[in-house]
Amino acid sequence: MEARVINPNGAVVHYHEIALKGDNRPLFIRQLAGNIRRATEHLGVKAIEIPRGRIVLYLEEVAQWDRIADRLRKVFGIANFSPVWRVPTQMPAFKKAVSGLIDGRSFSSFRLAARRAFKGYPLTSMEVNQKLGRFVQDLTGAAVDLDNPDLTIYLEILEGESLIYFEKPRGPGGLPVGAGGRVASLLSGGIDSPVASYLMMKRGCRAAFIHFHSHPYLSRASAEKAEELAEHLTEYQFESRLYLVPFGEVQRQIVLSAPPALRVVLYRRFMLRIAEEVAIREKAGALVTGESLGQVASQTLENLAAIEEASNLPILRPLIGSDKEEIIVLSKKIGTFPISILPDQDCCRLFIPPHPSVGARIEDVRRAESRLDIHGLVKLGLEGLQLKTFGAITTAGPPRETP
Ligand code: ATP
Ligand code: MG
Repeated sequence: MEARVINPNGAVVHYHEIALKGDNRPLFIRQLAGNIRRATEHLGVKAIEIPRGRIVLYLEEVAQWDRIADRLRKVFGIANFSPVWRVPTQMPAFKKAVSGLIDGRSFSSFRLAARRAFKGYPLTSMEVNQKLGRFVQDLTGAAVDLDNPDLTIYLEILEGESLIYFEKPRGPGGLPVGAGGRVASLLSGGIDSPVASYLMMKRGCRAAFIHFHSHPYLSRASAEKAEELAEHLTEYQFESRLYLVPFGEVQRQIVLSAPPALRVVLYRRFMLRIAEEVAIREKAGALVTGESLGQVASQTLENLAAIEEASNLPILRPLIGSDKEEIIVLSKKIGTFPISILPDQDCCRLFIPPHPSVGARIEDVRRAESRLDIHGLVKLGLEGLQLKTFGAITTAGPPRETP
């Protein structure tokens, strides 16, 4: 028999308590609630409240739960979330609501999972489980099964209004974007760097994106891919800025004066220098790359060291220990894979010799750079910067907080 559909009039979001350490707690929760508000804008969420230990959404009658759920699946910091039915905190109201909500659901075993957050309620969780369990048993004839029931009836007992629900879909986990500071993420059109950006957003960082292109020496395809990737990743942080940096002239100068084997390392060092300036504008505390140890010639330990020596900011490489296969699985999961594999002309393949150095020595790198106008080339990149923004500006105020 089909379940009779009674629309949920709320939703409850749980976060991992373990992620909350001391002083970070209020900041984390407020950021998470703000992000949820942002993610669910225009979908019929009337209000968001923060009773102890959870976040509660109040829904309009017309709210579309499926669309809200799609959005919540992308809000980092959510451990699980459920559509809920809000009922007055009284046993007769619990019974009435439960009998209405299980009407039409087919199950031959069930369990009750009450949690009494409001200690002023006269019955303990155990007593509520027993009372309501007996009631459901009498009503349906279904058996109680604590280990593997067909249906779990969750009841969170709060002051005033309690929450009933039947499922707890997992959220994306992580920390709310904005709670972990800002990073500047080097976004190529490839598979790895969008995944690296995603992982840093999942740790609560807001990412600004930087893409280097060799237009007009090469086509605009890589920049277009970077735009598409930035737009896609914006779903996780609501608004993004992408800086497009012309890099062809920098590359040309490097090619003219430096040994061919060092070209890739030198390209990368100039990318970091320019990215660092962008990071300062963005108030970002670190740079992010999609580098993975040993994946290509430029990603040996020696070359990584020779590259990062050019930067004063920490370089975060969330994929350093991942296999390409693992990275591809993640890029498919987050939806960037189909964009990443579109054909393009990556700037780093421009003028690359057949045997790039796999062990660049810092003295050789410095000597090669001494023939270049480092400051002038960085300036050139910055002067040609093009800024693209993604995502709407919100007008929603901060969520209400209840103790
Ligand atoms: P990806 O799949 O991210 O392109 P990759 O495995 O192809 O990475 P490389 O091409 O060596 O590796 O690039 C290493 C990292 O340097 C990238 O992950 C990215 O963070 C950065 N990077 C490379 N090219 C660019 C570019 N054109 N614009 C911005 N960042 C870049
Ligand atoms: Mg690449």
